[in-house]
Amino acid sequence: MPAPSQMLRSRPVIVWLSSHVLRLMCRHARELSPLENGGILLGWRSGEYDIVVDLRGPGPCALHGRHSFIPDHAWQVSEINRAFEASCGDLDYLGDWHSHPDGIAEMSDLDSATLLRIARRVNAPLMLIVAGSGADWSPQCWKGQLAGPLLWRRLVAAPQELKVFDPSAAWPGSSTVIGAASDPHKIS
Ligand SMILES: [Zn+2]
Repeated sequence: MPAPSQMLRSRPVIVWLSSHVLRLMCRHARELSPLENGGILLGWRSGEYDIVVDLRGPGPCALHGRHSFIPDHAWQVSEINRAFEASCGDLDYLGDWHSHPDGIAEMSDLDSATLLRIARRVNAPLMLIVAGSGADWSPQCWKGQLAGPLLWRRLVAAPQELKVFDPSAAWPGSSTVIGAASDPHKIS
């Protein structure tokens, strides 16, 4: 019988990231640099694949620091519900994204704590970090899973293979404009 840690190890998946989403994410990151920016990833799961076709920005009440980012959670929840209904259930929440301006795309202790908190509510959430400066940003993605006995749940954050693709224009999310209408950081 395999050890519990092996039984609970997350299966590797490929995360397919729409080029549209990557472009918007880098634009969001660039716009607030050197402050962090972030938001949520929307898409669907299909077997071994997570397919990210849309995103939302920080929301109007988010807080941005040099090494921290607190999203507008209430706004994000309403955006998730809105996207889910508008796409007849095709688009759902897949995870969070945020930027590391002038940094590297690695999970900080704070990021691990955030992913653990999300993993307690959502099955196998993604955390995508886009790091860089100026016009040069690159993404890395992790998937969070809970492991260990019930009272000692810990996070296993496994790096995911990330592939960028050009979405079909007919897919949900491929023409969505990011950010809230009332977002003071809205990118034009
Ligand atoms: Zn971070």
